[in-house]
Amino acid sequence: MGNEDEGWKGRNRKEMREKDKFYRILRNALENQEFEMYLQPKVSPKTAKIGGAEALIRWNNPVYGMLPPDQFLPMLEHSGLIVQVDLYMFRKVCGLLHRWECEGIEPIVISVNVSKADMEYDGILTEYDRIMEETGAPAQYLELEFTEDMSYSDMPRMQRILQWIHEKGAHCAMDDFGKAYSNLNVIQELEFDTIKLDKCFFKEDFPNEERGKKIVGGLLEMFQAIGVSVVAEGVETKAQKQELKKMNCELIQGYYYSKPLPVERFEKFWKEREEAVNLLLGTA
Ligand code: C2E
Ligand code: CA
Ligand code: CA
Repeated sequence: MGNEDEGWKGRNRKEMREKDKFYRILRNALENQEFEMYLQPKVSPKTAKIGGAEALIRWNNPVYGMLPPDQFLPMLEHSGLIVQVDLYMFRKVCGLLHRWECEGIEPIVISVNVSKADMEYDGILTEYDRIMEETGAPAQYLELEFTEDMSYSDMPRMQRILQWIHEKGAHCAMDDFGKAYSNLNVIQELEFDTIKLDKCFFKEDFPNEERGKKIVGGLLEMFQAIGVSVVAEGVETKAQKQELKKMNCELIQGYYYSKPLPVERFEKFWKEREEAVNLLLGTA
């Protein structure tokens, strides 16, 4: 056997050991409930009210503190634990919706991120069903966010999944539209309720740069024509918000309104905003 083979085997063994180590660390984190749900509001620029929120994962690591997903999602994907963690987040969202209902709070739609691996797992719909039943979550306030890079090669499978979601009374969104290849054919074949325009459209030069502005305006017109609602992501300035309001964009999710917040702070933000809007409208 040549040296090259030995070298490859050695690297392979090292990779396996690392994978094992990560698996154990992440498994512990999941068991110790170190993953937390943050919520980022989606606000209607027209009414200034919160019309929804996205659930975003954070890892409250005992050594490093609160970690954002880009620092551990690749490890979760690599270790194969991503499906379990996504289901953990799904359960958290379902539980929160149920709690709001019990407390007499009319819920808002909360969206959960779905990974490619979730869609490739045959038992995913049975798991969703079980969690929805166990938590008593009102399905009409649930939304699943699919990314563009999802495996759309098996279109009939994706169609079945979306159909199932709609039969349950829940909703589905296409995330990060415009970030990669944005196959319009996918939108024709799959009935998404919502399209999320990726933050790449809302860089500093939006809305001053004419070409970019026309692209966003054109996309909004097209989606409105087919009855799909639009969420603009990554909106950071007042000028951007004003332009999107003029274009009749339904919802805005971005630092202009708020960063993702822990649930308690989100609830406070929501309540204060409702009160402020009602006061301005003279209904409170
Ligand atoms: P995403 O689904 O596109 O989520 C939106 C990301 O944009 C969030 O980053 C949010 O904090 C960030 N963002 C929102 N508004 C602004 C803004 O105005 N400016 C800028 N610069 N950023 C903004 P976050 O929370 O770090 O999440 C990153 C990605 O991690 C998410 O992107 C999503 O792909 C993934 N992710 C988050 N939670 C989960 C989860 O529970 N499961 C899975 N599978 N993926 C998740
Ligand atoms: Ca998302
Ligand atoms: Ca996104």
